[in-house]
Amino acid sequence: MFEAVLWFLLGAAVTNAGEWFMHKYILHVLGKHKNSLWAYHWHEHHAVCDKNNMLDEGNRRLKLQWNPQNKELPTLARILLSQLLFIQSLSNQFKNYNFNRR
Ligand SMILES: [Zn+2]
Repeated sequence: MFEAVLWFLLGAAVTNAGEWFMHKYILHVLGKHKNSLWAYHWHEHHAVCDKNNMLDEGNRRLKLQWNPQNKELPTLARILLSQLLFIQSLSNQFKNYNFNRR
């Protein structure tokens, strides 16, 4: 039981750190350059939020078009993939550690 709680807390810490890192350094630093792939976040999403009291109305409904909200999806997929790889690596190390203790 203790190990499950530990894995849950580790997973929560890793996912939050990944989201924070991607948001701060990819979307905000690289996104400030107008020709960047990530420019939509700073120049579209944040511009809308600044005008609407921190609310992006586009997040309230799903539209099948290449709008700023849907441009976030590849970023979220990258965060998920990087975290899955990290968790898998930790899991393998944990299994090896337990196997070597026997
Ligand atoms: Zn942002």
